[in-house]
Amino acid sequence: MKALFVTPECYPLIKTGGLADVAGALPLALASMDVESRVLLPAYPGVREQLIGARKVAALPDLFGGEGALLAGTTSEGLSVLLVEAPHLFARKGGGPYLGPDGKDWPDNHLRFAALAWAGAQTALGKLGPWKPDLVHLHDWQAALTAAYLHAASNPGKRTPKPVLPATLLTIHNLAFQGVFPHAVSKPLHLPAPALGHDGMEYWGNISFLKAGVQWCDHLSTVSPTYAREILTPEHGMGFDGLLRLRAHELSGIVNGIDDTVWNPGTDPLVSSPYSARRLEAKAPNKAALQLEMGLHVRVDVPLFCVVSRLTTQKGLDLLLDAMHVLYARGAQLAVLGTGDRELQDAFRREAERYHGQVSMVIGFDEPLSHRMQAGADAIIVPSRFEPCGLTQLYGLRYGTLPVVARVGGLADTVIDANEAALRDGVATGFQFSPVDAVQLGVALDRACDLFADKLAWQRVQKRAMTRDVGWGIAAISYLDLYRRLVDAKRPAPAR
Ligand code: ADP
Repeated sequence: MKALFVTPECYPLIKTGGLADVAGALPLALASMDVESRVLLPAYPGVREQLIGARKVAALPDLFGGEGALLAGTTSEGLSVLLVEAPHLFARKGGGPYLGPDGKDWPDNHLRFAALAWAGAQTALGKLGPWKPDLVHLHDWQAALTAAYLHAASNPGKRTPKPVLPATLLTIHNLAFQGVFPHAVSKPLHLPAPALGHDGMEYWGNISFLKAGVQWCDHLSTVSPTYAREILTPEHGMGFDGLLRLRAHELSGIVNGIDDTVWNPGTDPLVSSPYSARRLEAKAPNKAALQLEMGLHVRVDVPLFCVVSRLTTQKGLDLLLDAMHVLYARGAQLAVLGTGDRELQDAFRREAERYHGQVSMVIGFDEPLSHRMQAGADAIIVPSRFEPCGLTQLYGLRYGTLPVVARVGGLADTVIDANEAALRDGVATGFQFSPVDAVQLGVALDRACDLFADKLAWQRVQKRAMTRDVGWGIAAISYLDLYRRLVDAKRPAPAR
């Protein structure tokens, strides 16, 4: 089977969040199951430099207001990559994939991601070379407009034969990001008027790229079963719940895996002292190293909690600020790595100044440090208000860094709370709290400190967490199953 991934991010080429990890790892996991994938993404600055061997596959003339754009292809670390090279849209100084240097959305994001989506649809239709996928897997709103272009192509008018379309799947990694733009920008998108109307992408008076995917993809998925259920409710549906309920029977929840070649404490080159469930004692030097690096008191006897996160309301870190008194009362330490809301950054920095040696904060996005945090900390706190899947708790499990998580979305699906019964049965892997508020987070932190004080019990939970299968194997099998169903359903019925 051939699958085309259309995505705005792909690890290790470009990453701002968990979506990149998925787009980088899933195609590799599927490769061993006979799925030949190609990953289509924009040639942002930095990406092109990493892929100097990329060669022209096809010209993309007059691509949303610019000449000289092209589709280029190459292979990178086993991954087959297609790049939309459009200097007028993607080659920019400063900023990132979505935001300019001023921290605001690039003003032409609708064109930038329409270009990605258009290239996705053309590739899907086999118009940009001989390679034609059986299935197109779209990731988030930035790719979702592909479904609109394919839908438009499926009704070419009376004289033109209908093209054979691949099966389409949209994965919603985070429903908070919906690609909403004013109606006024829709003209250059080259979509037929009905596509922009109420039965199309119209969304509360605007247009939403995500809605195009929700309307026209054959199937929808999100990244955990609990989140798949949550987004059908007004509380978590973020305005899409009504629409999603209409498609509830075509919505799956598949928990992400982690890339074991990148996230493995036994082989991780970024970890100074490699360790495993069998050689757990070798984790200790990583704790001391992290404490030193972060300016914390070097102590084995106090639990070291960490946070590796975007600093946003979603991630619930304001709740942690309100629950810090529990950590102080227990003499526990906290190391924070994150970037985002200025207020949260400042608040954690103030804590770090006031509780020097006990709390430490690094502001920024630092992949190597995130590995050292996972290896060195005893526990990782993920107090998200909602969490489609979450990856940091999965890394935490793999590194024996016990997750303390809100019982929502993928966090609920991947961590088994260390309650009495679970401890007795030897299945506990971390700590959950609910409802998601500072009081319950404080209770969970307290429970984590209690368990930490019982070294053997803590180690039992660590070993259990580290030996849980959190790799891509299980997820890849679920995706393959889904892909096969979708591709089979698309096959024309045999002639009688
Ligand atoms: P989200 O995609 O909502 O940000 P996830 O938990 O799914 O949350 O994925 C976040 C990914 O980004 C993880 O791989 C995590 O390690 C990484 N990450 C988040 N913040 C930072 C940071 N400040 N520095 C390094 N890595 C980070």
